[in-house]
Amino acid sequence: MMKFMTEPPLNPAIMVCPHCEEEDRIWIHSQKERRFKCCACQRTFAESRGTLLFNKRYPNWVILLVLGLLAGGCPVQAIVTAFYIDEKTVASWQLEAGQHAQQVQAEKVCCGQLAGEQIQSDEMWVKTQYGAMWLATGMAVFSRLFIWGAIGIERNRSLVQRVVERIGQAIERGSDLLWVTDGFGAWEQAIRKTLRDRVYDGKPGAPKLPVWSEIHMVQVVMHTAARRLTGITRRLRIGDWKTAQQIMTKTQSFIGVFNTAYVERLNATFRTWIPALARRSRTPSRYRLHLEAALFWTGAVYNF
Ligand SMILES: [Zn+2]
Repeated sequence: MMKFMTEPPLNPAIMVCPHCEEEDRIWIHSQKERRFKCCACQRTFAESRGTLLFNKRYPNWVILLVLGLLAGGCPVQAIVTAFYIDEKTVASWQLEAGQHAQQVQAEKVCCGQLAGEQIQSDEMWVKTQYGAMWLATGMAVFSRLFIWGAIGIERNRSLVQRVVERIGQAIERGSDLLWVTDGFGAWEQAIRKTLRDRVYDGKPGAPKLPVWSEIHMVQVVMHTAARRLTGITRRLRIGDWKTAQQIMTKTQSFIGVFNTAYVERLNATFRTWIPALARRSRTPSRYRLHLEAALFWTGAVYNF
């Protein structure tokens, strides 16, 4: 038996009864079946209940091994060949893990805790079976945290809007923040439309809706001619330069210039891995679901 095949001993101290929510009086029912017994309601329950390991026909270590390989970009087809596991089964584990990761991401990351950070967001195309898909992601530079990602058929505002909303939930109000994007104008539009306060000035008419005063946004625009980079322009779009500069200096590991290098590197990883991770599907919408699950599974493993 190899190390990755062994399972840790059961720990009743961290379990909560799924039947009656008892936290203290939980005993081990069966080490072999990995079941607990609740002494409040006298019922038993599996350790894996409520997780994606629940009720699977494979040992936990097989599922965890496969999910680990998937997070690292191993193609689904390679796993099918090596383990004799049906492609549909692998895909369903991945979908489950990805959806769970998305939930965890929403609860643990998008909860108003990012302070004094530099956000970088970017979009790029991913070549898939259904043609080019657009991937938009946002991450925090100092903590190297993947925040949110979205996949769409078109590169438009509704795509980046989905990322901007989640970043808005992740950041802590009252602390200044630098936000760097590429030249795609929809980022600024989405920020202005989503992250704004209602200000009543007592005058008649609609209230003013200024963008959050904490946000300092810089656009890094690459100019190319005949596919070669000919220059870079950096434009302040929201907030002020001085604060933007200060946050950049604090959050980057080397003192440089405004750039989108951090998120581009993250996206480059997604770009190479995600097509290998996606299962072929007849309908584009299901395909998108799988791509997003793959994205979040990889992203969550990157984070935690
Ligand atoms: Zn109970």
